[in-house]
Amino acid sequence: MRLMLPPALLPDTGRRRFLRGAGVGALATPLVLSSIGGPAFAQEGGGGGGVVTGRDLPDRAVGRPQPQAEKEPPLPPGERVGYAIVGLGKFALGQIIPAFAESKRSRLAALVSGNRDKALATARQYGVDEASVYDYQTFDRIADNPAVDVVYVILPNALHAEYTIRAFQAGKHVMCEKPMANTVEECRQMIEAGRKAGRKLMVAYRAHHEPHNMEAIRMARGGELGQVKLVTSDHGRHLDPKDPADQWRMDKSLAGGGSLYDIGIYSLQAARYMTGEEPVEIRAMMHTPQDDPRFKEVEDTVTWQMAFPSGALALCSSSYSIDDTKRITALGSKAGLRLDPATNYEGNQLYLRRGGSETHMKVQDKSQFAGEMDHLAQAIKENKPVNTPGEEGLQDVRLMQMIYESAREGRPVKVAEGR
Ligand code: NAD
Repeated sequence: MRLMLPPALLPDTGRRRFLRGAGVGALATPLVLSSIGGPAFAQEGGGGGGVVTGRDLPDRAVGRPQPQAEKEPPLPPGERVGYAIVGLGKFALGQIIPAFAESKRSRLAALVSGNRDKALATARQYGVDEASVYDYQTFDRIADNPAVDVVYVILPNALHAEYTIRAFQAGKHVMCEKPMANTVEECRQMIEAGRKAGRKLMVAYRAHHEPHNMEAIRMARGGELGQVKLVTSDHGRHLDPKDPADQWRMDKSLAGGGSLYDIGIYSLQAARYMTGEEPVEIRAMMHTPQDDPRFKEVEDTVTWQMAFPSGALALCSSSYSIDDTKRITALGSKAGLRLDPATNYEGNQLYLRRGGSETHMKVQDKSQFAGEMDHLAQAIKENKPVNTPGEEGLQDVRLMQMIYESAREGRPVKVAEGR
């Protein structure tokens, strides 16, 4: 709606400016007030596209016309997909819950925790209704909460299967942290439960929503490196027995495995998403110090090689006793790329190597956590498949079991169908 105001109707200051701008007595340029999207904002020219100079702006507060809509505008809260977070540990509280502030399609709707005080304090901080705070015994009542569409399982690995299956029985979709589960059999049961419930299962592989990794995948799979011949990836950190989040990681029955299950899975994923292929053969070695109390049950350092059908090879590692390391390289017949750090929560870096020199690529950082939650939200709303479904998580658990087998038995393992 556009309003034409004669100068007589303008407030004094606006009128003064108008008269100054137009020349006293000369009403050659009518002043047009645009009321699109709020209070009127002065525009010169009357055609809507005129240039406004500083002199023409009114002195009082006015609203500007609505800017062009963003490509992906945020949805109103009532239209977003509601998430229940199960397990309020280090990762949930430090990364996932704060990331709802950056999401456009997802909203925090419920919390599930064994510690009610912590859950209520978190609920107050993030505006979750007290009635939507559950513990592990009352969890199944989430079925009656229409505000919850997705259950996001952020528990120790051994509990992923149970809470995923219970969430499906409650009629909810599931986002499940990596690794999907401890065993291939559990992964199969989770997929089957989702199929039976007619609900989606997504494994939270955040790197697929991390802009530097996304750009690297686009380059590697789009042919910019020529034929990808070699992928290397290393992930390591110090396992800290004083950190409660690391204590269950020393317990095989809760963690499923050691450094491989926890962070080696990023190296494995990298080899698979950079080549876009599935390995056909694995050769692995493992070293675990016998005198270190952290490694009574789980392994420390693992290295493994994988061969892919195209002829590409991968050289991967994980360790719980090296300095913080998260890097990926993909080397092709024409060029190569390096991500270092590759899988940080933020601040990852991408470099292109060509002709012996390396160029730093500028990539806009964006929350990978908000990205993955919004990806599932959109898949639910539009009934589309997710990019990392249960089958993707199952494949990693299956390959990690073969990596252990190869290391244990000291021989190559063929990745046969149906294993
Ligand atoms: P954490 O120990 O900080 O959190 C685990 C939560 O589960 C805690 O709140 C704990 O109280 C609760 N819990 C319930 N039953 C438990 C039990 N029997 N033993 C121990 N804890 C129990 O661990 P975290 O680092 O937040 O990891 C949780 C999950 O998230 C794991 O599956 C891990 O692999 C995954 N994770 C993913 C990323 C990622 O980048 N995608 C990063 C960190 C962790």
